[in-house]
Amino acid sequence: MRYEMFLNTIVTIGHNRNSTIVKDLEKNIKRLDIDQLTETFQELRACRICPRDCNADRFSGKLGYCKAGAGFSISSICIHRGEEPAISGSKGICNIFFTHCNLQCIYCQNHQISCNTLDHSLQHMSLQEVIRQIVAILSTGINMVGFVSPSHYVPQVKVIINALRTLGLNPVFVYNTNGYDRPEVIRSLESYIDVYLPDFKYSDDGLGKKYSDAKDYPAIALASIQEMLRQKGTALPLDASGYAQKGIIIRHLVLPGHPENSIGVLRMIAGELSNELHISLMSQYYPTHQVMHHDFLGRKLKWKEYSIVVNELERLGFENGWVQELESADHYRPDFEREEPFR
Ligand code: SF4
Repeated sequence: MRYEMFLNTIVTIGHNRNSTIVKDLEKNIKRLDIDQLTETFQELRACRICPRDCNADRFSGKLGYCKAGAGFSISSICIHRGEEPAISGSKGICNIFFTHCNLQCIYCQNHQISCNTLDHSLQHMSLQEVIRQIVAILSTGINMVGFVSPSHYVPQVKVIINALRTLGLNPVFVYNTNGYDRPEVIRSLESYIDVYLPDFKYSDDGLGKKYSDAKDYPAIALASIQEMLRQKGTALPLDASGYAQKGIIIRHLVLPGHPENSIGVLRMIAGELSNELHISLMSQYYPTHQVMHHDFLGRKLKWKEYSIVVNELERLGFENGWVQELESADHYRPDFEREEPFR
């Protein structure tokens, strides 16, 4: 067993930027051919990027389910040190937190940025500004860039990666998704993404519908992770400092009152994918004010129900990954109204 405990705890922003690199790249950032880079945005004219299949013109006011437009609506670009050790290690990862979401989980731990009914109009950035902020973080020595909740912004993700590559920057790109992705869209990311970090939230269609408005979640998540597996296999090669270079880590957040759902997810992964995949079992759930009085979701996870899931993980023969400490729920409280959401 190579399971380790990790705490999703302290996150800070580094300020030791290499200003020479930033200055040198600034000339090239100004020269980025925005029109050419954003050509791929045409698919947002009749958006079928995710399984919601809205066919919405995201350039118009008539938006789809996710309410996301055709620009770069980003709540935060920051260094995050609270991910799995192979992702954020001690240096951290440059995470790009997109606004809106194609799932609307009633318990969402990042609801400040993901809720589609909120006004996110102040969070639009230009591509150059996005690139500038990423470059500033990469100049501190960080070599991983993570796209968080990217499923409804895949064309924007490709444009950001292309722009960074145009500047000669090739960090490890991480696709940190809720798992509700079209498999063909995941196929289109093959040459862009190095590490997939998908959630696998539900094995139960009813819970998918009740909690995330997506009855087909289990089948969709399974199919999209199958495509990730085709691309990357089960191995997770690390560099000398312990950072993943490519591969897949499947995350599963255990919900209070639903150990049977978690057991079902683990059985689907072992049965339909592989028990050699890296699993990140997470206990950091905490009730947001939206579900404070919910019968199941209105409390934190209990050790007894968490241990049932951990035991099943072992029984199924998973040997790669991480099991989060139960106390993590006390440490994971992002506030996206702060400049540094995780501090
Ligand atoms: S990305 Fe948004 S607009 Fe496009 S299909 Fe999904 S929910 Fe609909």
